Amino acid sequence: MAPSKDYYQALGVGETATTQEIKKAFRRLAKQYHPDRNPSNPQAAERFKEINEAHDVLSDPEKRKKYDQLRKYGAFAGVGGGRQPGAGGPGGFADSGVEFDLGDLGSFGGLGDLFSTIFGKRPEKEQEVDETIEASVSIPFRVGALGGKVPVTLPMAEVCPTCGGRGAAPGATITTCGECRGRGTISFGQGGFAVTRPCPVCRGKGKVPSERCPTCQGSGEVRIEKRLMITVPPGTEDGAKVRLKGQGAKGRGDVVVVFQVEPDTFFRREGADVVCVVPLNVAQAMLGTRIKVKTLDGRRVVLRIPPGTQHGQKFRIAGQGIEKNGRRGDQLVEVRVEIPEHLSAEQEAAIKAFAERAGLKY
Ligand SMILES: [Zn+2]
Ligand SMILES: [Zn+2]
Repeated sequence: MAPSKDYYQALGVGETATTQEIKKAFRRLAKQYHPDRNPSNPQAAERFKEINEAHDVLSDPEKRKKYDQLRKYGAFAGVGGGRQPGAGGPGGFADSGVEFDLGDLGSFGGLGDLFSTIFGKRPEKEQEVDETIEASVSIPFRVGALGGKVPVTLPMAEVCPTCGGRGAAPGATITTCGECRGRGTISFGQGGFAVTRPCPVCRGKGKVPSERCPTCQGSGEVRIEKRLMITVPPGTEDGAKVRLKGQGAKGRGDVVVVFQVEPDTFFRREGADVVCVVPLNVAQAMLGTRIKVKTLDGRRVVLRIPPGTQHGQKFRIAGQGIEKNGRRGDQLVEVRVEIPEHLSAEQEAAIKAFAERAGLKY
């Protein structure tokens, strides 16, 4: 069963139906033909698609207006008896598939535009887009800085293992599709121009099996959860992308991974350097000390704090920063001098004595 390109017919409403009536008809039919209610029924699935397409166009006043204009010019007049298997060519309606004798239609601002408005993108393009899968992957700060590997699971289409993509049950015989007579496409319309779409019965293959593959219901593909190990290059910044060639749907398309670098509670990035903040008490700041500081590698290095260190002062640990082109930046340690919030009477007396000796006013 081919979709009639008459959207009014598809929804069973008149040309003058209100948006409200269209929505109502759509809801009723969508319920009836919903794939959940009609498992393994390709006819219902096709009808469901058609209903959705019709609703998409007719419920949008702008699209409906354009569609009505096209319809008036006879684009879909051949629905039912007037189909022209010889008209148009394979390859989609935006190319040779659309044959038109523009005349008055020139004022529409381009047929390509009109069709893309009504039907969406060109099928060939859609396929290309479909096969590239973009995935956003969250990585820990450390992995982004130093590089590493992260596992990712992506849902994607894979060639059906039972039928090898042919859509036929094992042992089924393959015959030429009666709907499209083996062409793989179906054209609608007559006179001025015709619209060519992939044949819904054979899904553009031109051949149909005597029995559909039980695994994929004839589609030739199955949805799988594909697990990939992604290599994160060192120095990966938030928003950076990598393209994995041939890892996408059916082993053909690419997977484009967009990295999201998670913020770290201790480190932050400044170009090739990493900055961290460590607390010092007043005695450490005034008298000097040695502290242990965590590095990106997970080690702890000893950092000497000289006497008289000021709040906010930065110390450099060389070679412990972000790796970029085989070289590593530095780790900058910023100190935060913490002042005691409460003093006992004894402590207060001691600090006052110190202040008097040091000549500090308070
Ligand atoms: Zn066919
Ligand atoms: Zn199969």
